[in-house]
Amino acid sequence: MPLRLLLASVLLLGCASRAKAQTPVDGHLSAISWESYQDEAVDLFREYLRIDTSNPPGNEVAAAEFFHRLFDRAGIPNTIYRYAPGRANIFASLKGDGSRRPIVLLSHTDVVRAESRNWRVPPFSGEIVDGEIYGRGALDMKDEGMIHAMVLLIAAHEHLPLKRDLIFLATADEEVGDTGSAWILEHHPELVRDAEYLITEGGSNLVYPGRGTIYGIGVGEKAPFWIRMTATGRGGHGSTPIADSAANHLARAMQRVVDWPPPIRLLPVVEEYFNEMARLESEPRASQFRNIRASLRDPVFFRTLLADEDVAYMLHDTIALTVMKGSEQTNVIPDMASCEFDVRLLPGKDPKDFLSELRAVVKDERIKLEPISRYRTPNSSSTDTELYRLIETTVQKYNPEALVVPSLNSGYTESQMYRPLGMTCYGFAPIEIPPELDATQHAANERLPEEQFRRGVKMLYEIVARAAGE
Ligand SMILES: [Zn+2]
Repeated sequence: MPLRLLLASVLLLGCASRAKAQTPVDGHLSAISWESYQDEAVDLFREYLRIDTSNPPGNEVAAAEFFHRLFDRAGIPNTIYRYAPGRANIFASLKGDGSRRPIVLLSHTDVVRAESRNWRVPPFSGEIVDGEIYGRGALDMKDEGMIHAMVLLIAAHEHLPLKRDLIFLATADEEVGDTGSAWILEHHPELVRDAEYLITEGGSNLVYPGRGTIYGIGVGEKAPFWIRMTATGRGGHGSTPIADSAANHLARAMQRVVDWPPPIRLLPVVEEYFNEMARLESEPRASQFRNIRASLRDPVFFRTLLADEDVAYMLHDTIALTVMKGSEQTNVIPDMASCEFDVRLLPGKDPKDFLSELRAVVKDERIKLEPISRYRTPNSSSTDTELYRLIETTVQKYNPEALVVPSLNSGYTESQMYRPLGMTCYGFAPIEIPPELDATQHAANERLPEEQFRRGVKMLYEIVARAAGE
């Protein structure tokens, strides 16, 4: 945002908030001079991006040491937990008066690998080109990690009065094995156990030119439940076909599975999502979205919605056929053939039930179905919380046009590991980007506009300051 516009909106906000009673946090926020914190944040962010934490191998200890130096300099108590060679988590906290339960800002310090030849600038340079900050992790999720750290640094420096502990936790290995968070939850659950809220990745705020900006707050994820399907039978020479060979059995069973539409199950959060999204649609779709439960009974609408890859996954458990294996040689009929399905279950689904549903679809005694992934029960958090409302009102203050919607993630975030401890977990990033920039995550030229990063520092600080100080 150009500075002039920024100033104009700050003035407008000033007028709007004067109408309401000022809270001590309002006073605290308006006394902060943001410019210098934002400059500092950009410099530190670029430094953080230059630390190569490609996973594998990770080497996240370097990132932990980076934060350790920052927190030490600011007098914020912090501890590095080294749990394997080169691998470490870092925990820092600012104490509140204990009248409310803690809030955790969780990020991961590792990033996926980057093929530098496909990049405009070296992926670990943190270079700024045309107002955009480049680097592996710029969106996933060193930006958020850096903003989380800035929130603590500013809170300490500005003496934010805290009713709850403000916790920074940055873990290793989210992109591969989740060993960082798993280690914390196994060895030091007391660090986060009492928390009421946790904010991490998994939200995305997309700017659709001409349509508006949608802030998706991640409130739940689907759970991976990968399945291998194997058929066995008599092998032989390809010149003399065997009618009930393993491969033929498997092909027929695969056909039944890919043709099977898993039953629709409309979760309250998904209903809420459509209800909010209705505002962006024109009629008749707007009304159909508003009454999604009834609309799904209309076969035409039902088919159109299920054909939309961006939303269909929210409506049912999904099955994607991915791996297929049979003979290594064209003239050999194999005595075993197998395939694998990437299955994702909706929150609330029992994997045993899914497996028996799938068995009923396959209907073949010679086919073996077995889970091949570690399974974690899918879960979700309610939107009926003070923090959710705070995110909503703050976002709308910064962008009155923005729509805030709860979103169910098709992928996986570590929120799933923390929710069972009793905390409300949201995926939220205070960054707005167009879809083409969002698509640079895990791809070449990962980047975000510097202005968004600067604004993000202020926006998240405001949310956390209100959540912890009011
Ligand atoms: Zn991530």
